[in-house]
Amino acid sequence: MSTVTVKRADLKAGEVLCSYCTARCCRYFALPIETPENWEDFDHMRWYIMHGHCAIFVDEDVWFLMVYGDCKYLLPDYRCGNYDDRPKICRTYTTDECEYDNDGTYDRLFETPEQIWEYAHAVLPPKKKKRKKSPADTATQKLPVVHI
Ligand code: SF4
Ligand code: SF4
Repeated sequence: MSTVTVKRADLKAGEVLCSYCTARCCRYFALPIETPENWEDFDHMRWYIMHGHCAIFVDEDVWFLMVYGDCKYLLPDYRCGNYDDRPKICRTYTTDECEYDNDGTYDRLFETPEQIWEYAHAVLPPKKKKRKKSPADTATQKLPVVHI
């Protein structure tokens, strides 16, 4: 359900929709990610969400990692404090189909590691039994980086 006080259709000539918004588009970013196909993929997603301040959503069969966080230039009155030097994505974003009045729902939304794991159990075949680790398997990985 939308909670906006001013509807798009009610904007008067010369008014800007952003004047009535709490800068919803400056409070997160989302990146498309590979569609998960196996246990390892879902395990990576589980790990993402364990860090908090993020979620995974699916829209029209595309999977996204959404990271919550206000842009450092967002001012207390919801205007941009870096307007003249804002990134291209901010310059080209328009109010035409923005999230001003959307209800924040997606085809699928995972906000906890348990949710993504439960989904994995529902769509994947049962896990195979683990084989014994070889010395090569235990070679140290210097940083916790997922290679996608
Ligand atoms: S573009 Fe849309 S979501 Fe972003 S500040 Fe303006 S009205 Fe709000
Ligand atoms: S640079 Fe300005 S417009 Fe872009 S996300 Fe930050 S506050 Fe919003």
